[in-house]
Amino acid sequence: EKMQQLTILGATGSIGVSTLDVVAQHPDQYQVFALTGHTQSAVLAAQCVQFNPRYAVMTGESAAAKLAALLQGKGLRTEVLVGVEALAMVASHGDVDVVMAAIVGAAGLAPALAAAEAGKRLLLANKESLVVAGQLFMDAVAQNSCVLLPIDSEHNAIFQSLPAGFRRGALQNSGVDKILLTASGGPFRTWDKSRLAAVTVEQACAHPNWSMGRKISVDSATLMNKGLELIEACWLFGVEPEQVDVVVHPQSVIHSMVQYVDGSVIAQMGNPDMRTPIAYGLAWPERISSGVSPLDLVATARLDFESPDIERFPCLRLAAEAYSRGGSSPCVLNAANEVAVAAFLEGDLGFDQIPEVIERVLNQLPDTGAESLQVLLAADVRARDLALSMLPLVS
Ligand code: NDP
Ligand code: MG
Repeated sequence: EKMQQLTILGATGSIGVSTLDVVAQHPDQYQVFALTGHTQSAVLAAQCVQFNPRYAVMTGESAAAKLAALLQGKGLRTEVLVGVEALAMVASHGDVDVVMAAIVGAAGLAPALAAAEAGKRLLLANKESLVVAGQLFMDAVAQNSCVLLPIDSEHNAIFQSLPAGFRRGALQNSGVDKILLTASGGPFRTWDKSRLAAVTVEQACAHPNWSMGRKISVDSATLMNKGLELIEACWLFGVEPEQVDVVVHPQSVIHSMVQYVDGSVIAQMGNPDMRTPIAYGLAWPERISSGVSPLDLVATARLDFESPDIERFPCLRLAAEAYSRGGSSPCVLNAANEVAVAAFLEGDLGFDQIPEVIERVLNQLPDTGAESLQVLLAADVRARDLALSMLPLVS
């Protein structure tokens, strides 16, 4: 069988590194065509030395120059490219079979969309793409026979738990009643509301079950991650928010479930390690090993479930509201969240002020629609500017 040519957008991040870990276990099935990074030139250089890709892309000039210097004289075939156009080029190149979209934030949208438009097999970790431009993105997937495989663990679990050959937007025809989207509840699940103002960056980034990048770790702590995932599920599977129940499950052993009309509930379980959904996406419809150890059910001992607390964690409600409003609202929600999370990580915003910034931005900006990528990117910029102008936030 032919080697699959793989581009990893965001290779230097948490998902990128896990993807390369799986790929290294199957050197006769996958060849790395391109790797991309943003700031971590030394990490990308080490990855290039190990995987010898055709292209390595850095988004900024100085980071690219640093990468080129590090690769000098290493005898690699790797050509260093710079800029966002190069991201789209390596995502849509004619020699590429598979694209892992693992850039964080709305910055990941344009190259992921380029991969969809080029009809690639697209492993989508970048959930923000679907939050910002769900309709455009799913249209591009459908019109270009892109094979879209969800990597977000919950959506991967739902995908695995749906009947084979299900049709997006027609789940009822397959006897599906509901999607049960599980949430760990984050590090502050049991905390009093009064304590949330004093949450530190270290506390917010220390997820109880998963090791992830800083932005998604904060999103998990505010429950915005679950809000983004609710929107992601609606677009991926063509369902309405009313058909998705969020269930808090602190052990993160069940990664999500599908409830059928006959009362059956099908769940996908496993240790919380992203290499499982990554290996699934790479090999689908087959299976390959991932390096993840098997689940020890006796050691796990118990699985707990509870309802999410929207009063303490308003981000979940804000995301659901933005999705119902539609148009540019989810894009605005995402942009305001990115600014608020970055400000929190810089020490410029309280943890409990993150939802406040997002709600104010959502309430102040009119819906400008979602007709084109240009319209959405303009809404994204407006929302970022407005959110930034609110800092520091005086409550
Ligand atoms: P990280 O922060 O660990 O990695 C982000 C990657 O994107 C890095 O390669 C980074 O480059 C690159 N990057 C950052 N900003 C830009 C930019 N403006 N332009 C181009 N590249 C950029 O994030 P994660 O790996 O944790 O998450 C990646 C995506 O996957 C997110 O959308 C997240 O929601 C999703 N996801 C992650 C999960 C996880 O377990 N981590 C689980 C489910 C979904 P550099 O490091 O060189 O600066
Ligand atoms: Mg997830």
